[in-house]
Amino acid sequence: MPPNRSILHVDMDAFFASVEQRDHPEYQGRPVVVGADPKGGRGRGVVAACSYEARFFGIHSALPIGRAWRLCPQAVYLRPRGARYAEVSGEVFGILHRYSDLVEPLSIDEAFLDVTGSRRLLGSAEAIGRKIKAEIRAELGLVASVGVAPNKFVAKIASDIEKPDGLVAVAADRVQGFLDPLPITRLWGVGPKTAERLRSLGMQTIGDLSHRRREDLRASLGEAGEELWLLARGVDERPVVPEGEAKSLGAETTFAEDTSDPGRIRRTLLNLCERVGSRLRRSGRVAGGLTLKFRDEDFATSTRALPLSPPTDLTEDIYRAALALLEKTGWRGKRVRLLGVAAGRLQPRAEGAGAQLALFGDEGAGKRRRVAAVVDTLRERFGSEAVTRAALLEGEGEEEEKG
Ligand SMILES: [Mg+2]
Repeated sequence: MPPNRSILHVDMDAFFASVEQRDHPEYQGRPVVVGADPKGGRGRGVVAACSYEARFFGIHSALPIGRAWRLCPQAVYLRPRGARYAEVSGEVFGILHRYSDLVEPLSIDEAFLDVTGSRRLLGSAEAIGRKIKAEIRAELGLVASVGVAPNKFVAKIASDIEKPDGLVAVAADRVQGFLDPLPITRLWGVGPKTAERLRSLGMQTIGDLSHRRREDLRASLGEAGEELWLLARGVDERPVVPEGEAKSLGAETTFAEDTSDPGRIRRTLLNLCERVGSRLRRSGRVAGGLTLKFRDEDFATSTRALPLSPPTDLTEDIYRAALALLEKTGWRGKRVRLLGVAAGRLQPRAEGAGAQLALFGDEGAGKRRRVAAVVDTLRERFGSEAVTRAALLEGEGEEEEKG
């Protein structure tokens, strides 16, 4: 790892609400709240995002929508348009990729960039941050905040500290002076409980930690204390990992309209599993775990996970596990807004994986692998919608017939 890295954290400001204000000029300058239907203050669910005008009234994301309504009934209340935000997100990432191949998405609207190798050609890291902000504004009509620092941890704080429209660059020799006055809750991994514990030990600011001895933190908080001490000293060596090398691989979809139709939900789930399986097979990896993400109409999100044993890249195995996870969410009767599937614990597929599977008494695996290869070929040739695995959807009870 180069000793003097330049890491950028780029974070879009009030992303969903800003996209709405840009797409609908009549909303500009008005408080805009994106989230659940407020139903005149009786609505359940929460605020997904809101404009800075709405924040002025005390509204923030994750606030119950009924409370938002009482704080500001005159705001523009909108249901999220997930597909639209994903589209604009793609445009934002297109701009980021002009400046580095090392772009690690954190969410739909934020990413880390390692621009260490770009500096000679494109200017200082701070200059690159400025250009990115200018291009996002000029080409997309949106505002981003950027933090520039020698590592991820400091870059992430730097992007946040002067939001909105911020650009904060922290040089390597200024990291400690930048961190020390900040509250301990800025440290990654410090939730309310750890914060309370640190305060009881007399530590309120990051400086209170960084000035202690490493052994003292280890003694009072164990290994976690040592990790916090390192962060407090501005030490964070984690690399920026581009998406293709990520440790997990996922697909998710937001329904155009919330649905409780079991057939539709299962078909969507199968499609997600097919996408994940296909990407696994293309990348030559198998997954040792699966996570399902389920969000209902009120924006309540639950995730369920289970191990995949033996690790697999086959759609059937992934789909079967995903169905088991779906049952654990208690989904029946709820209207679903978003479904996501992520394969984790990725590892290279061993040669002769079929033989390995046979050891587990799974004689059908070789055949299923051949089916997968055929499906992948068809998908490449005709697109994903052309191939539906009808067989997988058969015999799942009468609900399916109505779907
Ligand atoms: Mg953001």
